[in-house]
Amino acid sequence: MSAVMDGLKAKIHCPMCTRTVEGLALPEVRLGRSRLKVMPGQKCSRCHASLDAGYVLELLPDTDQPNSKGRRAA
Ligand SMILES: [Zn+2]
Repeated sequence: MSAVMDGLKAKIHCPMCTRTVEGLALPEVRLGRSRLKVMPGQKCSRCHASLDAGYVLELLPDTDQPNSKGRRAA
């Protein structure tokens, strides 16, 4: 297992346009509890506001993750 700082694809609520957009979330363990936070520095794909103030609704399925270990045809 590597120290994961890659971010996971997630649905993120944008507080500016109140839409749900795709972005990256980081798992964060605090006080023994794991939660998801928005990876800093992202912009909303709809209104281009910073997503830092948004929040993670849910992660996308494993198959949509960039580093998923899905089988690739050689
Ligand atoms: Zn937005």
